[in-house]
Amino acid sequence: MNAVKSSTATGTTGTAEPRGRFAPSPTGPLHAGSLYAALGSWLDARAAGGAWHVRIEDVDRAREQPGAADSILRTLDAFGLHWDGPVLRQSDRSEAYADALQGLNERGLVYPCSCTRGELPPAAPGEDARYPGTCRTGPRRPSDPLALRFRASQFPGAVTAMDRLAGPFEQDVAGTVGDFVLRRKDGFWAYQLAVVVDDASQGITDVVRGRDLLDNTPRQILLQRALGLPPLRYLHLPLITGPAGAKLSKSAGSPSADPRAAAQLMTALLVRLGLPVPADLTGAPVADQLPWAVSAWNPDRLAGIVEVSPP
Ligand code: GLU
Repeated sequence: MNAVKSSTATGTTGTAEPRGRFAPSPTGPLHAGSLYAALGSWLDARAAGGAWHVRIEDVDRAREQPGAADSILRTLDAFGLHWDGPVLRQSDRSEAYADALQGLNERGLVYPCSCTRGELPPAAPGEDARYPGTCRTGPRRPSDPLALRFRASQFPGAVTAMDRLAGPFEQDVAGTVGDFVLRRKDGFWAYQLAVVVDDASQGITDVVRGRDLLDNTPRQILLQRALGLPPLRYLHLPLITGPAGAKLSKSAGSPSADPRAAAQLMTALLVRLGLPVPADLTGAPVADQLPWAVSAWNPDRLAGIVEVSPP
């Protein structure tokens, strides 16, 4: 039985109240690149008259930085990105993930795997290696720590994610990613399962996030279908890149979003989201810029943004 329930009124994206979300991993303070994604998602939800939720994606306790979750929430607040409802923390959600896993397992879609990273074929730079199915008929070393994998190989062929900006994005998950991990060897839940279960139980209809996550979307769609969950709409934002073309992120040394500079940074981010902030609002308090931005929001303008420089 599938224990994951959607809280949308209708269970479809067609008629449910629009509901967006921001789902940061608390690996450090909020940086400008993440704030840009949060702002895009917030604007998209508010412009549609919808709700906006925040979820702390702290499944990977090893990568978590103490205090980061609270600092991220304070920063969102300082930038005027107020959220609806309680903040969901993935560290509280093990039971929901276990229920979903059980539902998949009952359908024969889960198997244990003892492979170590070193046993897997090397990945192309920036890509996940395709899992060759080594343990598909039983783990090679059953007494080793075991990961649990999803039998993507049961769903051969292209999975199409419809992106509101990029259009159809096709990926043959079985052929290029292979059977992917749902629960890691160390017992941590994998992002792909947690994100799908939580988007559904928070009643999310619209995912707006960075384009670096686009190639995760077909995996998430496969899981949604296998769990009988409603489909979502997707908008993947062009990445903010630095002068060298590096993604503006923690790893690339992105500036953290300093609330003391909120007014200026807000203007810079709105411009990068395709919104031409008028002169009288440039550098104005965020409480003045945001209502204008909600009324001006038009994701079609993002199409012209190929590469942008950091604020
Ligand atoms: N937690 C992910 C991150 O911080 C985002 C996941 C998502 O938006 O689907 O990169």
